Amino acid sequence: MPMPAALVTRFAPSPTGELHLGHAFAAMVAHEWARASGGIFRLRIDDLDHTRCRPQYEEGIYRDLAWLGLGWQGPVRRQSAHMNDYAAALETLKGQGLLYPCFCTRADIQAEVQAIAGAPQGPEGPLYPGACRGLSAQVAMARIADGARHAWRLDVARLPGGEALTRSIGDVVLGRKEMPASYHLAVVLDDAAQGITLVTRGQDLEAVTPLHMALQTVLCLRRPGYAHHRLITDERGQRLAKRDGARALSTLRAQGATPADVRRMLDWPAMQALITSRLEA
Ligand code: GLU
Repeated sequence: MPMPAALVTRFAPSPTGELHLGHAFAAMVAHEWARASGGIFRLRIDDLDHTRCRPQYEEGIYRDLAWLGLGWQGPVRRQSAHMNDYAAALETLKGQGLLYPCFCTRADIQAEVQAIAGAPQGPEGPLYPGACRGLSAQVAMARIADGARHAWRLDVARLPGGEALTRSIGDVVLGRKEMPASYHLAVVLDDAAQGITLVTRGQDLEAVTPLHMALQTVLCLRRPGYAHHRLITDERGQRLAKRDGARALSTLRAQGATPADVRRMLDWPAMQALITSRLEA
C-alpha cells in the first residue's frame, strides 16, 4: 500500500450564523483527509463580509468544533486581519493589466442583464454584462479622480483558460467598492498562506475552482489539490442554509444529540471509507 502524502487541509466557515449539519460534514471531511494522511487540519474564519459577521457566531464555531472533537493545528487565520495582503495582490494584478475599474451599481447591472434576452448565468447569478470593460483608461481614471465609487473586476479573458472562464464565470469582482478584497481573491491567497495542499469544499463551489486555479497561476502561488464533497440536504432534498435553525449544531446539542448521533445523521462511515480508499489509491 503506498504511503499517502501528509495533507494540509482547512475548514473555512464564515461567522454569519450558527453552524449546521452541512458545516459539520465539511469540517469532518477536511479533518479526516488530514488525519488519515498524517497531515494537518487548519481553521480559518472567513470574516470578510463584516456587516454580516458576529462575534457570537465565531465563538459558536470554536464551541461546535470542540464538541465534535475536531481540533485544529496552528493559529486561526482571520481574513479581516489580512487586508494589506489582499490589497498588495490586487496591486500586482493591476500591474499585470488584469483588472479594470467597474462603476456599476447593482441596479445598473440588473437593468443591463434584463435588457439581454437569455443573459448568461454563472454560479453566482447572471454574468457581468461588461458595461465597464470597454471604458478607456482615460475615462476610467477621470472618474476615479472625481471620487466615483468603483470595484475592481478581473478581465477573465486575459487569464490562462480565459475563453472558458468568460463563458462560465465572467468578470468577477476581486476588489470590492468598500474593501480591497473579495471572496475569490482572499480564498486563493489564504489557502497559499496557510500552506493548504488539499482544498476540500462543497460541490456548490466546484464551478469556481477553475477561476481559483487561474488566479494561482497569475499570482505565482502553489496550486493545491481540490476535492469537492456532496452537500447535505434536508428531507426535501434542499441544501441546508444558515436560516434552518432546526439543524444548527447548538440546537441538536441542546436537544441531547451527541457527536455520534451527528455522525450517524451524516452517514459518516461511508464518507470516511471513501476518503480512506482515495488515499490508498
Ligand atoms: N468560506 C467559504 C464558505 O463558507 C469556504 C471557502 C472555500 O472553501 O472556498 O463557503
